[in-house]
Amino acid sequence: MLQYPNLEQALKYHFGYDRFRPGQRQIIEDALQNRDLLVVMPTGGGKSLCFQLPALMKKGLTVVVSPLIALMQDQVEALRNNNISATFLNSSLNAYKVRSREDAILSGKVRLLYVAPERLLSERFLPFLDLVHHQIGISTFAIDEAHCVSEWGHDFRPEYRQLKSLRKRYPDVPTLALTATATDRVRSDIIQQLGLKQPSIHIASFNRQNLYYEVRAKTKQAYAELLELIRDSQGSTIIYCLTRKKVDELTFKLQNDKIPALPYHAGLSDEERTTNQTRFIRDDVRVMVATIAFGMGINKPDVRLVVHFDLPRNLESYYQESGRAGRDGEASRCTLFFSFGDIKTIEWSINQKTDAQEQLIAKQQLRQVIDYAEGTDCRRTIQLGYFGERFPGNCGNCDNCRHPKPMQDWTIEAMKFLSCVARCKERFGMLHIIDVLRGAKNQKITQYEHDKLSTYGIGKDRSLDEWRMLGRSLLHQGLLEQTTDGYSVLKLNALSWQVMRRQRTVLLAVPIAQKITWQEGSEKAVESEILWQRLRSLRKQLADEQSVPPYVIFPDSTLKLMAQVQPQTLAEFGKLSGVGSHKLAQYGKKFLAEIKAYRQEQGLLVEQQDNSTSSVSFPSDTELVTLKLHQQGLSIPEIAQQRNLSPSTIFNHLSKLIEKNQSVDLNQLVPLEHQQKIWQVLEVLGDIALTPIKEQLGESYTFDEIRLVREKWRRENRK
Ligand code: ADP
Ligand code: ZN
Repeated sequence: MLQYPNLEQALKYHFGYDRFRPGQRQIIEDALQNRDLLVVMPTGGGKSLCFQLPALMKKGLTVVVSPLIALMQDQVEALRNNNISATFLNSSLNAYKVRSREDAILSGKVRLLYVAPERLLSERFLPFLDLVHHQIGISTFAIDEAHCVSEWGHDFRPEYRQLKSLRKRYPDVPTLALTATATDRVRSDIIQQLGLKQPSIHIASFNRQNLYYEVRAKTKQAYAELLELIRDSQGSTIIYCLTRKKVDELTFKLQNDKIPALPYHAGLSDEERTTNQTRFIRDDVRVMVATIAFGMGINKPDVRLVVHFDLPRNLESYYQESGRAGRDGEASRCTLFFSFGDIKTIEWSINQKTDAQEQLIAKQQLRQVIDYAEGTDCRRTIQLGYFGERFPGNCGNCDNCRHPKPMQDWTIEAMKFLSCVARCKERFGMLHIIDVLRGAKNQKITQYEHDKLSTYGIGKDRSLDEWRMLGRSLLHQGLLEQTTDGYSVLKLNALSWQVMRRQRTVLLAVPIAQKITWQEGSEKAVESEILWQRLRSLRKQLADEQSVPPYVIFPDSTLKLMAQVQPQTLAEFGKLSGVGSHKLAQYGKKFLAEIKAYRQEQGLLVEQQDNSTSSVSFPSDTELVTLKLHQQGLSIPEIAQQRNLSPSTIFNHLSKLIEKNQSVDLNQLVPLEHQQKIWQVLEVLGDIALTPIKEQLGESYTFDEIRLVREKWRRENRK
């Protein structure tokens, strides 16, 4: 086994990443201690690494149980691209291939074996596994998508139930179970069904901070807005529609508008579906228009936009589907288009259900989706609340937080509302309460004699929609409860009573009629667009040569860094996050050549020859931020103000950046005439201190100017 001074170095060496994502380090440490583990992380949290890195550091074979063939292939390809020996066994292989893979495993060359549960537990395979255990050892069973053991999950697979027998057969081999499913019931089921022994449990937050959530009204302009969103995003896009017919129509429209789009739904042949999916994953087409049939087991990490053009069925599926954006942690967007027409369509299909209980649950779920869509609170607060996670709001990355609606004091209205709930004995849902408040005359009201209540008709001054908005906000803010049995009966809690006793004010974000347009956030890349495109096509070409998706070569974030930093030596290149030892050797020269060609075309200096012992060091993170702003044309005082740093610090950054060969535009900082004079003095006097230079030049020259030009002069003369 290779020995590493620390885990970070092992991470960098094998995977090229600089740091662990939240939770990963602790999980890996526990795994190295041979503990049983339950890891619950949202999609894109980085679960795979939690067993992949230990697999490289522990003795023996790590056996990964995975339910989907596509997922296995994906992961094995990605591992091989980091020169990690991994393989899979599943029904797609012929007997000959299976044999040769088994031989490779027994020779001890393979670190990770991916296998489907039905094969793992087959009569033929278990003796083989015994042999492996005996000859080279099994280091861990990693159970991916572990929620498949639970009938309470959305994806129950009976084969998963039998995995418990592995425990009996190999009691000394630790089990690591991983899932993105958030509910408590499924979690405890996993522990029980897999027979985990005093597992160390890691539950990450389900907040995906890199995703921008927004809801838009599905007006007549919706299609035009969709086009704009797709054009803006410049990356892979998934558009979900409710029906096959809508998928086909929208695909056709987009293709007519010159957007490379393909459809995906259950009405297509298996072959068409696979082809379309592969073309999407390989970046041959940018847009996939799909029903919810698409997405399970799609590992594509660089989806930049997920649009729900129709209303999702429930919040859990909305979270999972929109969560297919930005698995790589880069800024991505999730847009939901919302219309009352859609509600009617879904209500209609719910009414077709014959099972009353199912109908009730579906209705409640629909109501929650509507609440989300119409809600004025932070979208994250609403979503995470659904999973039982309290989120304080003000996320800064959803439409409601970025474009907050004005806050109004609605304490009086809230008191009326809550006391009406109390008068109705906490036995009714929201619509009935509002009917009472607004003094409606209907049968239910007469039947219960609610027209005799003191709260009857005290809310005529507000519209139905206004009361609904208040009711929803009270629920989101935790000032009121609702039963989850399908009837959504409103219940009071301690906070409700505080409001009624005037111990608490109720503020409401009131929507204003305005079209919310996307404001360019700081994530808008400022790196050279041309270079970025060139690097992308090089990546695509390399990927096609190996028939793998482009992200297997390098993730978007690494490509962005390349375009920004423009490394000129292998040493510099190797420092980029995402470049591990193998990828450096495999691709470094090709990307450096592309960058160099670009720099030459742009007339930028190409000084350093490829030389791994280069003395030029790499800019620090803070210097890079300054560089970015400088390249946007900001002056030193402007950068200082924006970054809340002193101008002299910014100045220091810029002079360091010149020293480190970065493209700082001196003309922005020092008048040309001054540059020339300072340069002349340096040519004559050589590399001397600032004061004698200034003495030569006189009062009108600043030390700062002289220093910057001297830095550049030094760089030119260093060769
Ligand atoms: P999950 O299975 O939890 O959905 P993955 O394991 O597929 O997530 O990881 C999502 C993406 O994040 C992958 O592209 C992976 O390479 C990347 N990733 C994982 N760990 C890190 C890390 N420490 N630094 C940067 N990227 C990471
Ligand atoms: Zn928010």
